[in-house]
Amino acid sequence: MKETNQYLERLMGITPETIRIVAEAEAEVKPLFHKREEIKEYNQYKVLRAMQEARLSDQHFHWHTGYGYNDPGREKTEEIFAAVFGAENALVRPTIVNGTHALSLALAGNLFRGDSLLCVTGAPYDTLHEMIGIAGKYPGSLIEMGVRYWQIELTENNTLDRHAIEEKILEEAPTMVYFQRSTGYSFRPALTMEDLTDTIQWIKKNWPQVIVMVDNCYGEFLEIREPIDAGADVMAGSLIKNPGGGIALTGGYVVGKDRYVMRAADRLTTPGIGKECGLTFGTTRSVLQGLFLAPLIVSEAIKGAILAARVFEKAGCKVQPHWQDPRSDIIQGIQLKSPEEVNAFCLGVQSAAPVDAYVTPVAWDMPGYQDPVIMAAGAFVQGSSIELSADGPMRPPYNVYFQGGLTYPHAKFGVMKALDSLKKIR
Ligand SMILES: *Cc1c(COP(=O)(O)O)cnc(C)c1O
Repeated sequence: MKETNQYLERLMGITPETIRIVAEAEAEVKPLFHKREEIKEYNQYKVLRAMQEARLSDQHFHWHTGYGYNDPGREKTEEIFAAVFGAENALVRPTIVNGTHALSLALAGNLFRGDSLLCVTGAPYDTLHEMIGIAGKYPGSLIEMGVRYWQIELTENNTLDRHAIEEKILEEAPTMVYFQRSTGYSFRPALTMEDLTDTIQWIKKNWPQVIVMVDNCYGEFLEIREPIDAGADVMAGSLIKNPGGGIALTGGYVVGKDRYVMRAADRLTTPGIGKECGLTFGTTRSVLQGLFLAPLIVSEAIKGAILAARVFEKAGCKVQPHWQDPRSDIIQGIQLKSPEEVNAFCLGVQSAAPVDAYVTPVAWDMPGYQDPVIMAAGAFVQGSSIELSADGPMRPPYNVYFQGGLTYPHAKFGVMKALDSLKKIR
């Protein structure tokens, strides 16, 4: 719209050339938005139905004190999460501090001395390296606790390497096979639900005793089915990513088969206590309202990611995924040419934020990451990456990961600011 473009140029400082490039890209990608609308609609009904069937009511937004026995809001929240993700049981707590913690509970709760873990999507997400014991030497890491570990890289085409997986399962009979759906800080497409489903079902058919776990961070509500629907036994993620809908203030979840979720709960509290204690501190209203909005918010974020893919491809960058590729997470990888370009890109995204738009992001040694990481995030919830954000480790080949946006116009504005900022130093 003419008025919008004038507003962007005169009052928000976007250059006419960027407005033109983004408008051109938007016209190309718009036909793809239809599919996102359809998935959003399906998932909206799925969440609504779970809330209705659970007979959610106002009393569940209040909380108990002390031990929290039979806390109605906590139990209702977990019942709803289990239903939405097609699981037998769920652990959803504000005391799960992030996605790494949720994943660690599912891992450490279900792997004991003499057990073994086979990761089949290459190296797991950076923050899990210490926990598993492949970086640093922590006395409580899985490896130090007597769990054996192997990983199998993806094939050249970034698909699961069935041949290598079969060989390893036959040779070592691993206790658990682990999949990471999203890309993390690598430049590969996210695993599609199709590839994931086929491989999980193949494993379950041939080796039913193997526990299948999925890191579902950034994957929730991308499709109408989730990894548990595909046959995974347990999966985990963060509430300040997709399933919190930008409203949840903190927390993580573990969902899956009853026994695996119970064991994760035993790690969070203690054997014998499990899920029976723990306060929600008044968070159930925002967690459930966030879950209710999540299908919409995720759809807005993906539309933004598709636009970003087309715009930065036009700007001469390698992008992952390509704008027309299928999507299985909300991440848009963009390959830049230097650390200076990464800084400029992130500065652009930061200056598009509703909060802290005036600050300059700098790379720092974040806990759990091996290289300095830069993060642009002017978010209502600190570190929330379902909100407009960009981040990347400061190492070649200088990939930056763009994600989120609670509304499509905001994600689009982030794209424009990042492009303008990049052009200034080119
Ligand atoms: C974000 C993320 C994690 C870890 O989540 P935190 O909330 O940052 O601890 C793990 N795996 C993947 C794929 C992620 O994207």
